[in-house]
Amino acid sequence: MEDILKYTPMMQQYIRLKEDYADAIVFFRLGDFYEMFFDDALVASKVLEIALTARDAGTKVPMCGVPYHAAKVYIQKLVSKGFKVAIAEQVTEPGKGLVEREVIKLITPGMIIDDGILKDASFNFIGSIELSEYGYIFAYADISTGDTFLLDGLTKETLLDEIKNVELKEVVLKNLADSKLVQTLRDFNIVISMFQDDEIHNPALVKSIISKPAKQAASLLLNYLFSQSKQQLSHMMPFQITKTKQLMHLDRHVLEHLELTESLSGNPKSTLIYWVDQTKTAMGSRMLRYYLTHPIKDKEVLESRYDYIEAFKIYEPRERLQETLSKIYDINRLVGRIASNNTNARDLVQLKYTLENIPTLKEILREYKNELIDTLNEKVDSHTELYQMLDKALLDDAPILVKEGGMIKEGYNHDLDELRDIALHGESWLTEFENQEREKTGIKNLKVGYNRVFGYYIEVSKGNMSLIKDEFGYIRKQTLANGERYITQDLKVQEDKLLHAKEKSFALEYEIFQEIKEETKKYMNSLQELSQTLAKIDMFVSLAAVSDKFNYVRPKLNLNFMVEIENGRHPVVEQHVEFISNHITMKPQEIFILTGPNMSGKSTYMRMFALIVIMAQSGMFVPANRANLPIYDAIFTRIGSSDDIAGGQSTFMVEMVEANEALTKATKESLILFDEIGRGTATYDGMALAQGMIEYIHNDIGAQMMFSTHYHELTKLSESLSNVTNLHVRAKEEKDTMVFLHQVEPGASDKSYGIQVAQLAHIPEKIIQRSKTILKKLEKSSKEQLTNLFDLHEEIKLETVLPKDIQELLDELENVDIDRLTPVDALVRLKYLQTLRNKNKK
Ligand code: ADP
Repeated sequence: MEDILKYTPMMQQYIRLKEDYADAIVFFRLGDFYEMFFDDALVASKVLEIALTARDAGTKVPMCGVPYHAAKVYIQKLVSKGFKVAIAEQVTEPGKGLVEREVIKLITPGMIIDDGILKDASFNFIGSIELSEYGYIFAYADISTGDTFLLDGLTKETLLDEIKNVELKEVVLKNLADSKLVQTLRDFNIVISMFQDDEIHNPALVKSIISKPAKQAASLLLNYLFSQSKQQLSHMMPFQITKTKQLMHLDRHVLEHLELTESLSGNPKSTLIYWVDQTKTAMGSRMLRYYLTHPIKDKEVLESRYDYIEAFKIYEPRERLQETLSKIYDINRLVGRIASNNTNARDLVQLKYTLENIPTLKEILREYKNELIDTLNEKVDSHTELYQMLDKALLDDAPILVKEGGMIKEGYNHDLDELRDIALHGESWLTEFENQEREKTGIKNLKVGYNRVFGYYIEVSKGNMSLIKDEFGYIRKQTLANGERYITQDLKVQEDKLLHAKEKSFALEYEIFQEIKEETKKYMNSLQELSQTLAKIDMFVSLAAVSDKFNYVRPKLNLNFMVEIENGRHPVVEQHVEFISNHITMKPQEIFILTGPNMSGKSTYMRMFALIVIMAQSGMFVPANRANLPIYDAIFTRIGSSDDIAGGQSTFMVEMVEANEALTKATKESLILFDEIGRGTATYDGMALAQGMIEYIHNDIGAQMMFSTHYHELTKLSESLSNVTNLHVRAKEEKDTMVFLHQVEPGASDKSYGIQVAQLAHIPEKIIQRSKTILKKLEKSSKEQLTNLFDLHEEIKLETVLPKDIQELLDELENVDIDRLTPVDALVRLKYLQTLRNKNKK
């Protein structure tokens, strides 16, 4: 594009405009089309499956276009595929010379306000990251709902966990100095946007944030949103601070493996959220999802959440309450569209319908006669005035378009009624006017007529002209052979009204709509509060309903690391099969070695435990007859056999990476669940590693752990390690075939039953028989060796943690892209490394 002058002036305008939006697809308005040129055209024509043409703009340039009135779907398609779209409109009237164009809107995956792409039940987050000497700061927001969150003091790993957890769509960075971070963000398919301004321009929104760097991180995000979206975002709410220390740590592997909100197989019924979310409103559903993916450690807060569920457990009014809730629209997103002027009358009608149901809702809440619910109810403001205005003004079947009338009710605005009346009943007005003028003047043959040149007129015959008095305000317009034609001010006004009544009524409706919208905007904050309270009510009512339906109980929480789960069930598996419930009784620092044949239910047992813990620490009731649980600071899992082939890692490598997460980060307040560690390598390697890890967790960490394995040789560890207990899942051999009882019982399983399971899978009988013979031989010959190996456990103990920490420091250093680092960034990073080192030394 060096030689810009070779292009036509319009294309030069395009090229200049595009310079500022290099990473976006520019929709360039040309009459009734949005056109795309050059590389944008090549990319967009492919993604949108539209024809690629060329335009002669001095020289031929590639071009494709979409009609402006249908642009929305095309924009949605591009944005949902991770593109940014800049809309360049004509901002001066077409006429002489080149029409000026400006980008009036930037739509990116993290900046969507219009609905259509957004899922009701999920947030659509955009975030910013900054590094301070105390660790990473992560601020994130959903501009469609106005919600904002901030976490600080994160390590790179916990930052990435949270990013994955909230399904971030776009991230704003000041620089790309941390190449590893940038690469991971790209691997997560997150759109990266660069922005520099992190000055605090909106103090009110960041007032709850204490540290300056955190205020800056939040401001970086806000400034980007305010300046780049080119929308009014007055609905953004002040940042909610999540204290990282109060969160239970769930690393991203845990989230994935346990299928809390996302299914590994794509079947939503295998996720926990599918079963526990019976909310009726979008905001309730989003809140529940947020709670479930952010379990906490604060006993008091958890108890209070249980209290709410308990309060809502009375059955009778609940159905009516849920029915009322189901009539409530997504207030946050309605407010978002109203504040950013992306709204239509239908949105306001939805708001009206919503408010219409509040009195009934309050009535039902009162029926509970419960103090907690009463306190919630006090916060539910009916917004009577707003409701009355909307109800008085808006027609229920208002259209989506706001400039073609049909929005405002009769009787709301006198002028509008008149305009509509004129448009409808113009003729009768004229007859009435005629009569009125005849009476006033006493001229019986006075006529009101119309011609194209003079418009409406009053015609008076020659003989009667003397009857016209000055005070009538008749203005002579035309002289005829036998009379005169006049107009009056009233008639002129009426003419204007008549002729333009329709357009005028549309314009007036639009004006009234704008007024109502502005008036509604004044209620923005209190509507957001209402939404928040309704979300809470909806969520707890739903949790109460789910607890009743599926027999969940209120857990007891203890601080001395005792686990007593009576008849625990897996909340998802129990929905699919007749579930055999199991007890879990665990002492502080206890390690279970869980054996049993494949398919007997080891993995299900461990997942059941993890899910019960997460549900309890999210504030939910749990699937058991009784549960007394500790409050864990983290859950680490190594479950399932997800091969990260795309990431170039073998099963074994994935296993080790995930295990390492637990080995380096778990504390004695953590829960570790390892399923079949060491399976991906040779038997002796695998067993040796498994043993080493168990010993390390037993002796050095002191966390509670469940370790499932088909190396039943590992059960011998219970003899040398005092906190190790053996459990096995019962299975019976009946006439050479396996019967799974799914019952977990004390003691080790006697053998691994691999061949019997193979038999169940219909492996040819010949192979089965041969395998049994080989097994017998093997068992005989290797018994001695194995015993020897397990006497060696002292020698294969793992190294201490320190080298790994130094490795972490080195990694941090190595990942810095010096060329992209400013001196200030360098100092912050250095300070952070020192903090990290000091922390690890402790
Ligand atoms: P393992 O980990 O021992 O190979 P899984 O935990 O994967 O076995 O269980 C295999 C299957 O057995 C599960 O998919 C489930 O259908 C069934 N199952 C497991 N535990 C139970 C249980 N307690 N009650 C009923 N069915 C169960």
